[in-house]
Amino acid sequence: MFNFNFDNNEIIITLKILIKNKLSFIGLIITSSFILLSLIVTIFGHSILPYNPIKSNLSEALLPPSWDHPFGTDDLGRDVLSRIIAAAPLDLQIALIVVIPSTIIGTILGAISGYFGGKLDEFVMRITDIFLAFPGLILALAVAATLGPSITNTMIALMSVWWPYYTRLARGEALSIKENQYIEASRAAGLKEISIITRHVLPNLLVPIVVYATFDLGRIILAATVLSYIGLGAQPPTPEWGRMVSETQGHLFNRWWLPLAPAATILLVVLGFNLLGDGLRDAYDPKLRQLYLAKKEVEEVTQKIPVKEVKGKVLTITGLRLIFKTPGGIIKALDGVNLWLNKNEVLGIVGESGAGKSVLGLSVLGLVPRPPGKYVGGSIKFQDKEILSLTEKELTNIRGTKVSIIFQDPSTALNPVLTVGDQVAEAIKVRLEREGLKRPSKDIIKKETIKILNEVKLPAPEMIMKMYPHELSGGMKQRIMLSIALATRPVLLIADEPTTALDVTTQAQILQLIIDMMRKRGMSILYITHDFSIIAEIADRVVVMYAGQVVESGPVRSIFKNPLHPYTQGLLNSIPSLTKIKKEITPLIGFPPSPINPPSGCRFHPRCPYAMTKCSKIIPELNEIEKEHWVACHLYFKEGDSIE
Ligand code: SF4
Repeated sequence: MFNFNFDNNEIIITLKILIKNKLSFIGLIITSSFILLSLIVTIFGHSILPYNPIKSNLSEALLPPSWDHPFGTDDLGRDVLSRIIAAAPLDLQIALIVVIPSTIIGTILGAISGYFGGKLDEFVMRITDIFLAFPGLILALAVAATLGPSITNTMIALMSVWWPYYTRLARGEALSIKENQYIEASRAAGLKEISIITRHVLPNLLVPIVVYATFDLGRIILAATVLSYIGLGAQPPTPEWGRMVSETQGHLFNRWWLPLAPAATILLVVLGFNLLGDGLRDAYDPKLRQLYLAKKEVEEVTQKIPVKEVKGKVLTITGLRLIFKTPGGIIKALDGVNLWLNKNEVLGIVGESGAGKSVLGLSVLGLVPRPPGKYVGGSIKFQDKEILSLTEKELTNIRGTKVSIIFQDPSTALNPVLTVGDQVAEAIKVRLEREGLKRPSKDIIKKETIKILNEVKLPAPEMIMKMYPHELSGGMKQRIMLSIALATRPVLLIADEPTTALDVTTQAQILQLIIDMMRKRGMSILYITHDFSIIAEIADRVVVMYAGQVVESGPVRSIFKNPLHPYTQGLLNSIPSLTKIKKEITPLIGFPPSPINPPSGCRFHPRCPYAMTKCSKIIPELNEIEKEHWVACHLYFKEGDSIE
C-alpha cells in the first residue's frame, strides 16, 4: 500500500527518483513540454503560432514539408504544425476535465463504500460493476453518439465511463486502510466516521489515485482523439489531433506526412503519460523508495569510513557492507566492517544480538542468500581469494574443505533421519576425494570416521556412529558437529556460539576441545559469541561489534585491561566476577537499535553515558590508540579533531 504525504521533501525525493530513471525522465520531459505548450497557447492565443490554424488559404493547399511548413499544409492550405500546436490545449483540457471529476467522484464513492462496507458497499459496487461490464471506449461511443457530436458531449461521455475505475481502486485501498490500528485508535478517541474518512482514509488514497490519474491522462487523450476521428468529438474547423488524422487519412499513400504528424503527436503524448505514470508508480513503491534512500545513505556513509586492507592474512575483511531488502525496509546488517585473522589465531567476535556477528560468519562462507541480501561495498579475502566474486561452484569448493562452520544448535544442524556416523562419513568422503582418492572404500571411510570421533573425545565411537542425533546429549551432538567441521581439515573454522545451548561443564569441555584441535591442526578460528567470558578463555584478539559496525578491536589482554569504547566497557561490566566479591554488575542500559533506521553519528550514542553533541552527528572512525588496539569513539580523538 502506498502511504506517502505530498510534503515538499517527498515531492523532491519523488522528482529525484523520476529523474534518475531514464524512461520516466523522458516521460517527464514529454508531458511537461506538452502541458507548457498548452498553457502558452491558452494564455497567448493563436497569435503566437507561425500561421493561423483555422483560416483557409487555398493557394497554399497541400504543400510538402519545407522550412516554412515543417509538416506541410492540408487541403485548405492550413499549416499542419500550427494546427498540431493549436490542438494541444484542447486535448489537455478534455483529459483534465474528464480526469478531475472522475477521480473526485470515484474516489469519494470508493472510499465511503470500502470504509462503511455492508449494503452501501454492495449497492455502489453493483452500479460500478454494471459500468465496468462494458468496454469503456464502446460505452463512451454509445453515450457520445446518443448525445450528438461535440466536444462537450465527448467529455460527458468519457466522464460517465471513467469514474467507476476510481471507485474500484479507492474501495480496494480503503478496505486495506481501515484495517490499520490508527483507524481503531481514531475511533477509540471518539473521532466521527466522516472525520476519519477525510483525515485518514482520503489522504492515504492520494498517491495511488494520482499515479492512476497520470496514466489516465494519456488514455483519455487517446479516447478523445478516437471519438474525434470518427466524427463524434471536435468539429471542423477546430484543430484536434484525432480529427486531423481523420481529415488527412486519404493522403496516406501520396502525402503520408499529413496523417502521420498528428498521429505521431498522439503517440508521443500518450507514451509520455504512460512513462511518467510508470515512473511515479515506481517512485512511490515503498520498497523501491526505501532502496533509493538506503543507497543514498550507503553512498554517504561510504565516503566517511576509511577502508583499511591488510595483506598476507588468512582472512581479511575490509569495509564490508551488507543490506537486506525486506518489506519493512532496508536492513543494514553490516556497515563498513574491517577485520583480519592471522594463521593459528582465534579471533573473537563479540556483541549483542543483532550486532551482525552471525551474518558476518555466513558472509565468509558465501552463505548469505542474495537476494534478499546484497553486498553494497567492501571485500572478504580468504587466502587472497575474493569471496564476494566467487561463483557458487567455487564457493562450494571452499566450504567444508578450507572453511568449516559449527552452529549454536547442533540439534537443528544434524539431519535427524541419518545416523551421525553417516553424516561424519559424508564429510570424510569429500576430503578423501579432494586429496585424490577416487571412490574411497567404505572401510577407509569408516576408519577415518572412528579416528575423528576419537579426536573429538567421543567414547565408544563405533557404537556412537550408528546412533541417530536424538539419541545423543547436547554436548555429544556438538562434538559430532565439530568432527564434521574438522573432518575436511579446514584452514579456518567459524564457530557461531557453539556452546550457548550447553551447560557450563560441557561448555568448558567443548571450548577446551576446540582449543586443542586448533593447536593440533594449526587452524585459525573465528569465534562468534555474545559472552565476553568465553572470549577471555579462547581468543587471542577480539572484535567488538555494535549495530553492524566494529566499535573496538585489539588483543584480548589489552581489551580486558583497558577497554576503551563505552560499549565494550558496558559489556565487560556486565560479567559477574568470582574474584572481586564487591564488584557491582552494571548492565548496559537500553536496547540495540533498529537495523532499518539506526541512530545517526555514533550508533551507540542513545545508550552511551559519555555521549557528546558531536556523537549524534559525526560517525566516529576506527583509530589505533595502542598497538593493534583500535576504537571508534569520539572520546579518543586524533590530533586536529575537536570535541564540543
Ligand atoms: S562516540 Fe560518543 S556516543 Fe559513541 S561511544 Fe564514543 S562517546 Fe559514546
